[in-house]
Amino acid sequence: MSKGTVSEVHAFTPPPEDPARAGGILTIDLGQVVANWRHLKEKAASAICAAVVKADAYGLGAVPVAQALFDAGCRHFFVALPQEGAHLRAALGAEAKIWVLNGLLPGEAAFYADHGLRPVLSSLPEVTEWAAFCRMREMRLPAAVHVDTGMNRLGLNLDEAHRLAGDRDLLGACRLELVMSHLACADEPGDPMNERQRETFAEIRALFPDVPASLANSAGTLIGSAYHFDMVRPGIALYGGNPFSDRPNPMRAVVSLYAPVLMVRRLRKGETVGYGATWRAERPSRVAVLGLGYADGYLRSLSWPARNGPAQVMIGGHYAPVIGRVSMDSICVDVTDVPEDFVERGVRAEVLGPNVTVDEVAKWAGTISYEILTSLGGRYTRLYVPAGNGARS
Ligand SMILES: *Cc1c(COP(=O)(O)O)cnc(C)c1O
Repeated sequence: MSKGTVSEVHAFTPPPEDPARAGGILTIDLGQVVANWRHLKEKAASAICAAVVKADAYGLGAVPVAQALFDAGCRHFFVALPQEGAHLRAALGAEAKIWVLNGLLPGEAAFYADHGLRPVLSSLPEVTEWAAFCRMREMRLPAAVHVDTGMNRLGLNLDEAHRLAGDRDLLGACRLELVMSHLACADEPGDPMNERQRETFAEIRALFPDVPASLANSAGTLIGSAYHFDMVRPGIALYGGNPFSDRPNPMRAVVSLYAPVLMVRRLRKGETVGYGATWRAERPSRVAVLGLGYADGYLRSLSWPARNGPAQVMIGGHYAPVIGRVSMDSICVDVTDVPEDFVERGVRAEVLGPNVTVDEVAKWAGTISYEILTSLGGRYTRLYVPAGNGARS
């Protein structure tokens, strides 16, 4: 089941003073995030290319990611929570436009206003509350309105959108700066739901003729210009995840994760590994114990034999399968087929990176790249590769 040897081995040199001690080293390449954003921006042509940095930029660090994108010219950022927005505001300064996808939380309008956050209003009660707050402050504060086009998650339904469009009082109280919706199936470009949602959205945005419109997430940005409208909102593609479930990944990898070999042991034929003794040696074997586990976001569903697995790591230029169960702080890999010189205590194995992609790990775990990234733990040493001089456009 091993994927064999690859000729191009990504050489990893630990930093001179490694504060990780025994832990994993997570490297986030901000230059690649910026390159991915530029690629999407080019695809989106005349539309504004925003950046979705919710959930701490999908686990990669909202402040460093947003700062790098801001330096590259990005001005529109989407978070999920007002608290995330406030952190970003403090880091980016006044010029960034920060949108809060989870809408207006009840009684919190002043918090949004005080931090210059723009709620993405998702229901008529939210619109009403924001309008009332604007009247009270005697300021027409900016907001977006989210209209549902089939996802049935957040957003006004079509009737409500029509009612809002006809209510000059309500609309006049605040400053509607964006009308948006969200695609349910863009990861499968051939799904007819994409076209249905696009048509519905085109009708809705016509109700608000002077307001910029936005429909596309990462995949939507890449499936065609008909989906771009005035602004695109990529998330996962910025972070190197494949926006498509059925096509090769057009994006550049951003994340690498290396875990240290804590020890190497020899097993006799018939011996077992880990909790539940779920893996049994069918031959005399060598097993390397790596210092990362489910407490670090290496999901327990990656345990042998995994859903579409076995899961693999790369060590000394060879793939090695994860065997036994994933423990809290360690995993075991079968290195019987890796030359002995390449696997010794202190060497690091690639757990995520150029040879072990986020999407592959997600597939083995039976999940999506989004969950792998947002699960990345707090015990890693995080290294940020700066975007460099080319960042400013
Ligand atoms: C998360 C999110 C996005 C970004 O989606 P990706 O698939 O990560 O590109 C865009 N719009 C909304 C409303 C979202 O919730």
